[in-house]
Amino acid sequence: MSVDEALARDWIAAVAESVRAEAEHLTDLDAAIGDGDHGVNLRRGFDAVTAALGGLEPTSAGDVLGKTGTTLLSKVGGASGPLYGTVFRALGKTLRQGGSFAEGLQAALDGVRQLGRAEVGDKTMVDALAPAVAAYAEAAASGESVAARAAAEAAKAGAAATVPLVARKGRASYLGERSAGHPDPGATSTALILEALANVTDR
Ligand code: ADP
Ligand code: MG
Repeated sequence: MSVDEALARDWIAAVAESVRAEAEHLTDLDAAIGDGDHGVNLRRGFDAVTAALGGLEPTSAGDVLGKTGTTLLSKVGGASGPLYGTVFRALGKTLRQGGSFAEGLQAALDGVRQLGRAEVGDKTMVDALAPAVAAYAEAAASGESVAARAAAEAAKAGAAATVPLVARKGRASYLGERSAGHPDPGATSTALILEALANVTDR
């Protein structure tokens, strides 16, 4: 099985549902070390994505993910809009060009790194995304469902590992040492996005 249009649509629908359910939690996390808008930002973004995909004629997985990215880019302000926009646009572009989902995830990570200049340990979404991309690639030969579950577990562990870190990028970095002791909101939402992928590929 590969990531076809139906799976891509199911994934984004599951992300939208999860973001709605967790919006308050994500916003609370951001209130602790940022400006308290991460959940609100993502909920607004994925509500717009849901509407945009509803109006999108049957197409390809690449177009579905690309449309998700461009919608996030145009509807979500703050740091996370352009970063998640980049994630989904890179996935879409890679799939449209005939690349694999593992290659798409790698392109997404490269894009985020290029845009945000964050590395693992800076207490950002990269702390969840980088290990997830590596775990997916390592397990890709075992099939999508196994790879997606491995990626979700790695993202969750990566997000948990941000708790003791001092933020070096983004708004949380303004807090310096006081940013330690809290999970990074963006790493937490990245873990939700990959958990949603694992859940839909399991079906
Ligand atoms: P803002 O910080 O502009 O209010 P959000 O609250 O929506 O935007 O998103 C905050 C999240 O964005 C952070 O928790 C972090 O994971 C991520 N982030 C911020 N800056 C960067 C960066 N330079 N590189 C990667 N991720 C970043
Ligand atoms: Mg914020």
